[in-house]
Amino acid sequence: MKKTIETAARRASGPKRLRLVLFDIDGTLVKTHGAGRDAFGLAFAEVFGIRPDLDRVRFAGGTDFDLFRRLAAEAGLRPGPAEERAFFERLPHALQHLLAARGGAEALPGTQILLDAIVADPELLPGLVTGNIAECARIKLEACGINHSFFVGAFGRMHADRACIAAMAIEQARSLVADNGELEAIFLVGDTVRDMAAGKAVGAIPIGVLSGADDTEALQAAGAVQVFRDLSPTQEIMAVLRGALPGGN
Ligand SMILES: [Mg+2]
Repeated sequence: MKKTIETAARRASGPKRLRLVLFDIDGTLVKTHGAGRDAFGLAFAEVFGIRPDLDRVRFAGGTDFDLFRRLAAEAGLRPGPAEERAFFERLPHALQHLLAARGGAEALPGTQILLDAIVADPELLPGLVTGNIAECARIKLEACGINHSFFVGAFGRMHADRACIAAMAIEQARSLVADNGELEAIFLVGDTVRDMAAGKAVGAIPIGVLSGADDTEALQAAGAVQVFRDLSPTQEIMAVLRGALPGGN
């Protein structure tokens, strides 16, 4: 956290025209070998005493808040605020338990090098837009050693709708740079059609990666302006982030 604040202060006094680069987590920056999904089943069973049918909801690109509500509805439950709170308190413990049992999370190819390049560029601000609740996001990123690189972050318990989560991250960034500059562009990098749709909904430029759930055709149909196999083509991705903006600036 300290490093994030230091980075924010340094960036806020930097150049006036800045570009925000928002990243999804699962399937984009990291993979957890199913631990994230199965943690839902484990925490759900601990709180409600029944195993939910995880196959009845699509996890990829979902938000934790929305997934919880859908799983509860599928199980015929109407959880109140106390049960919801209990579930989201259990979820990070379940995730940590399953990650430990399965050998941890793994940064996807190119993640570290690309984030290093973005952090080193004074005109680019890296951020997070994720369906994970903040505790689970931190666990997954720390497991890969990449939790220090983000300027802003919005998470899955802030809202059930990914576009609203993206809007919150953008708002954070706007208020952080407000006195010293403006955001001339916002990119949203993700592995699902839901990421691309959320990006479009908030006026961001969607960039797809094939390291997660959806294929090129689906990502492009959902609005991706570029699709990369993963984050390893560092120079090509940096060229897009630094390059001319769609619509001509
Ligand atoms: Mg994802």
